[in-house]
Amino acid sequence: MWGDKRYHTLNYELRKEFGQKVMKLSLDGGFTCPNRDGTIGNRGCIFCGEEGSGEFAGSRTLSIEEQIWQQKKFLSNKWNTDKYIAYFQNFTNTYSSYEDLRDKYFEAISQEGVVGLAIATRPDCMSKQVLELLTELNQKTYLWIELGLQTIHESTAKFIRRGYALEIYERAIQELKDRNIKVVTHLIFGLPGESKKDILNSVKHLANTDTWGVKFHLLYIQKGTDLYQYYFKYPFPILNREEYISLVVDGLELLPKEMVVHRLTGDGKRDLLFEPRWSLDKLKVLSGIDKEFKSRNSYQGLISIVSNYSNIYQD
Ligand code: SF4
Repeated sequence: MWGDKRYHTLNYELRKEFGQKVMKLSLDGGFTCPNRDGTIGNRGCIFCGEEGSGEFAGSRTLSIEEQIWQQKKFLSNKWNTDKYIAYFQNFTNTYSSYEDLRDKYFEAISQEGVVGLAIATRPDCMSKQVLELLTELNQKTYLWIELGLQTIHESTAKFIRRGYALEIYERAIQELKDRNIKVVTHLIFGLPGESKKDILNSVKHLANTDTWGVKFHLLYIQKGTDLYQYYFKYPFPILNREEYISLVVDGLELLPKEMVVHRLTGDGKRDLLFEPRWSLDKLKVLSGIDKEFKSRNSYQGLISIVSNYSNIYQD
């Protein structure tokens, strides 16, 4: 239905839009995060590592132009493409002065081959000025904004120290929708205290929002994070590969067909990842998802088509 996949991949969507393979260049804009600098919190989200939410971005000691050059060079060994999305990944990428943000975004989109811009941020960092800037960018390039919601459940949000309520996300997504700006929402599967039903209720919630795309993450316990300390004091169940695959397929069945799936596996750093170690074999996870779809003879949107979801997922 979407090339060789049973779900609507970003690769499929970008090929449709640009007629060829498009790669993302992960950038570090040198920003911080209000959940780390003391504005909302000092220690950040419980799972967040020292390098923020983007572990594979370029170095913040380099300019945006230099990072783009370096990332292109790195990717050229693996992929034959000349079209790129500049992806501001680390920390909160709308959390700076208007001038600083403007300079960096425009520096990124003016580089050769850059056909689009992706900006990862928090829904509580969407001031009027930021929204104006994003509106301007949206007219100039292929833009999407990524929001790390992780869960719709307030008790879990408190536990992970997300630092904003669900209504803030709802408001941000509406503001962006009103401006025709695409949104990608992140969810984490396997957060402590959440059942299968809780996780799939978060997915169902997303399915009924105006999010354009989704990223499903598996919860990582990374060395050096507060979650790592917590796990030793209060061990909690960790999803195994089969459980994760089954949940991902359940979740994709609930999403509308037009929602673009940006990611289904994470990119934890090998030496920092404590658990789950099985996640390092990304290909096995992805091929497991394909196999599970085939064995169910299913595809993204199956359940969103045949039901209004009510009472599907009970414990
Ligand atoms: S919002 Fe992102 S960068 Fe900030 S603490 Fe949470 S995960 Fe880390």
